[in-house]
Amino acid sequence: MSDPQVPNEFVDGPDQEPLPETIEAAVKNAIAAKTPQRIELRPCPCGELSVTLMMDAAPNSKIGRATCGTCGTWGVDFLVPRSQDQNLVGMKAAEAWNEAPRG
Ligand SMILES: [Zn+2]
Repeated sequence: MSDPQVPNEFVDGPDQEPLPETIEAAVKNAIAAKTPQRIELRPCPCGELSVTLMMDAAPNSKIGRATCGTCGTWGVDFLVPRSQDQNLVGMKAAEAWNEAPRG
């Protein structure tokens, strides 16, 4: 009686980089890699230096509103990216906030 051959499950092989399966996935990865996690926000006219934006963008709405989390009154409208990607929405809100004229 001889032992049956046990298949070796741990075959050594070249490690393969997982490739994005679709162009869409590749584009998403590229956007995610380029998107900064955080944009430095300019101070609010109310005097708040480290502003936290309160974002108000209804699903599928083209216009969102970003309001200062401290005073709750000073805010800007911004165009919501068509992708509705949360990182992009946050970036657009921050850009609009920084570009808005301060009195
Ligand atoms: Zn404020």
